[in-house]
Amino acid sequence: MPASFDINELHWLLDIVQSIDVGVVVFDREYKIEVWNSFMENHSGLSATEASRQSLFRLFPEIDESWFTHKVETAVMLGTRAFTIWEQRPNLVRFKSYQPITGLADEMYQNVTILPLRSTNGDTDHVCLIIYDVTGVAVNKRQLESANAQLQELALRDGLTGLLNRRHWEHCLEREFARHMRYETSTSLVMFDIDHFKLVNDTHGHQAGDEVIREVARVTRQLARGTDFAGRYGGEEFVVLLPDTDLAGAKQFAERLRQSIERLRVDQGGQLLEFTVSLGVACIDSKMTEHAMLVEHADKALYESKENGRNRTTVYSSKQT
Ligand code: GH3
Ligand code: MG
Ligand code: MG
Repeated sequence: MPASFDINELHWLLDIVQSIDVGVVVFDREYKIEVWNSFMENHSGLSATEASRQSLFRLFPEIDESWFTHKVETAVMLGTRAFTIWEQRPNLVRFKSYQPITGLADEMYQNVTILPLRSTNGDTDHVCLIIYDVTGVAVNKRQLESANAQLQELALRDGLTGLLNRRHWEHCLEREFARHMRYETSTSLVMFDIDHFKLVNDTHGHQAGDEVIREVARVTRQLARGTDFAGRYGGEEFVVLLPDTDLAGAKQFAERLRQSIERLRVDQGGQLLEFTVSLGVACIDSKMTEHAMLVEHADKALYESKENGRNRTTVYSSKQT
């Protein structure tokens, strides 16, 4: 303390500690509280008199005692400050948050500084905690993260149908192909294309065409399992990758899809549009060296379905060329 330091200045300091908008707590080497400023009073509901001489851990049972004492004792031993930040531990003590705007955080997020206090004889016999309310920052960051995750999800999906877009679907196929190589599970692909779709566009307009595509996608999503990868491969061409499914299972799925779409009616200003799809089914086999070959096989089978009159399912066989 400087020689000119007098009792008035001490009062000023106490006033300052009282009125700043951060929590200030001083405790002794037994973790018994000695200073408790008005921030702490306001947020804990305990007056300084009530908190005085109480054990910090008794007032805040939520503090992980062994972690916290280790942190404090290390700081005391080294004579240096220590910090905890909300990203690692959202808070040290549980205070309600009164952030009016968000409704996102009901608990205060905190950064905390642990400050060993040396007395005039050089011993560290007290420790000061400075608790910062960083709820605003934390909530902003969390919101940004969740918006980013949503954007990322959107970038993987096709805008018209909500199915996986081609690029992402191919990425999933690549991954599944590699998984198949490791574990030798059967993986099948159903590829399908709306029959005479140009006619829908030409007769009823592009918007009606879009609605038909959306409806086909909806039915596809409904029939596929959560673990399947349903994607929009091209304009009115779709793919469903079925992990852990053999050819027989994939054929069944394809037929269910074909029949559901055949029964579908899309209302266009009172007129009910009917349409069908042609499907091709293929399964990864041991001779395949890359994922594109699976697409090639399903595509060939699909072509056969078109050739043989549409509205049908064809399973790829190596005799097809
Ligand atoms: P096929 O039975 O042989 O498949 O005959 P098709 O008329 O369906 O022929 P094709 O597959 O070649 O035609 C696809 C048409 O789909 C051409 C394109 O104008 C239209 N199309 C592609 N994408 C969209 C889209 O997003 N919306 C709409 N409305 N039409 C699309
Ligand atoms: Mg078509
Ligand atoms: Mg097509």
